[in-house]
Amino acid sequence: MEYITLPSPRIPVAAAAQVIVAGGGPAGVCAAIAAARNGAKTILLEKSGCLGGTWTSGSMGWIIDADGDGKGKLLKEIMQKLKARNALHIAGDGAPAFNIEAMKTLLEELCQEAGVQIRLYTQLSDVVKDDSNRISAIITDSKSGKEAWQGELFIDCTGDGDLGALAGNPFEIGHPEDQRTQPMTLLALLTGLETEKIRPCLAGEDTWSASADRFSTLLTHDGYRPSYRGLALFPLGNGIFMLMANHQYERSGINADDLTSATIAARQEIAHQIEILRTRGPEWENVQLISTGAQIGVREARRLLGRYKVTLDDVVNGRCHPDPACRVRFIIDIHALSPDKDNKVEKSPEAAEFYEIPLRALMAQAIPNLLMAGRCISGDFYAHASYRVTGNATATGEAAGTLAAIAARTEKLPQQVPYKAFAEAMK
Ligand SMILES: Cc1cc2nc3c(=O)[nH]c(=O)nc-3n(C[C@H](O)[C@H](O)[C@H](O)COP(=O)(O)OP(=O)(O)OC[C@H]3O[C@@H](n4cnc5c(N)ncnc54)[C@H](O)[C@@H]3O)c2cc1C
Repeated sequence: MEYITLPSPRIPVAAAAQVIVAGGGPAGVCAAIAAARNGAKTILLEKSGCLGGTWTSGSMGWIIDADGDGKGKLLKEIMQKLKARNALHIAGDGAPAFNIEAMKTLLEELCQEAGVQIRLYTQLSDVVKDDSNRISAIITDSKSGKEAWQGELFIDCTGDGDLGALAGNPFEIGHPEDQRTQPMTLLALLTGLETEKIRPCLAGEDTWSASADRFSTLLTHDGYRPSYRGLALFPLGNGIFMLMANHQYERSGINADDLTSATIAARQEIAHQIEILRTRGPEWENVQLISTGAQIGVREARRLLGRYKVTLDDVVNGRCHPDPACRVRFIIDIHALSPDKDNKVEKSPEAAEFYEIPLRALMAQAIPNLLMAGRCISGDFYAHASYRVTGNATATGEAAGTLAAIAARTEKLPQQVPYKAFAEAMK
């Protein structure tokens, strides 16, 4: 590869805060709200044009692992507020689904009410560190050019671990043997369908494999086979459905060429699937594509190493800790790493009824003032395939934001904050 060298630029300082959160997905929004509500001046930087990450830019309106204790309070509050706006729908199996536009507005309101300074359209691109290996500022690129954001505590909620990687924290990626990651999927929103007429094909209305098999048979037509055979159509309420029906294999979520080719191929496949659906009987003939996700869904990228790494052994044996941040109840859900597995989900070991993620898994191993939350926390390939869903991204976000605010207020590093103080604040 060829390189060019830029002269070192003078970068204006856009703002300073006690806590800076990079990435405004489910984890980042909850981290920022929790930090601000716990008294910290907080900035939230997000590269896209809305908050919510995979929930909104990714068109993914279905919350998994939302219930039970050990999840903090914020997700419950978000769901209650969506319900009050007639924007929460409970599917046949009890999973909460939501209206994506309502979620965008609510998250902005909650952040603003808490006093979080939001900056959209702003992508983290570099970090500045001091002599003690702490991050002192992060550098972003946007329409305003390069800007610096100075802070005391930083939380990586980019999903892909961009901040940790730029700061030099070690990370892992993909399967332990060959570093392959789970496939990406571009999600889409559909309308023009009546729930009653297509119920047997809907996710959450029968066992997952039964409705997936029916829907997959319907789409397998005229020599075409969907790239994902465990595919699903989710009812989000008010006549809107989420289509999860493609797999983009062996592409990296941290490679812009891969993201581009995966998105284009997936969008073409979705258009073809809609054409097929319209021919599959009167209950399908009026189906309309509302939109495809503004961002392709990346299931996994970097897992930043922390002061603890959640492992398969923890998940299978239901390990609990003296410093819990989140209690996980979801299965190990590994989508096939290559198309030769009949495009289905890989066979996974069985998770215990629940296990815990300790606060130490949210503390970066090498960077003293960096926390992480959401899918880039410290865990192995198998554990990540369980805790990555949004019921846990929100909980780890809330925990990291709360801890960061206490650390800032007491002028300590996160690892020096007594667990009791954290637990008290989470009550
Ligand atoms: C196809 C698919 C289907 C899924 N289905 C479900 C499901 O049904 N239910 C469920 O609960 N979970 C599901 N998940 C998992 C879940 O959506 C994610 O694991 C979860 O959203 C992780 O939350 P996060 O906040 O860590 O990351 P993300 O949701 O990825 O959010 C990261 C945010 O950071 C921003 N960002 C990234 N890099 C930068 C940067 N350098 N600078 C600034 N901003 C940046 C992004 O724009 C984004 O807003 C699914 C995931 C995929 C991909």
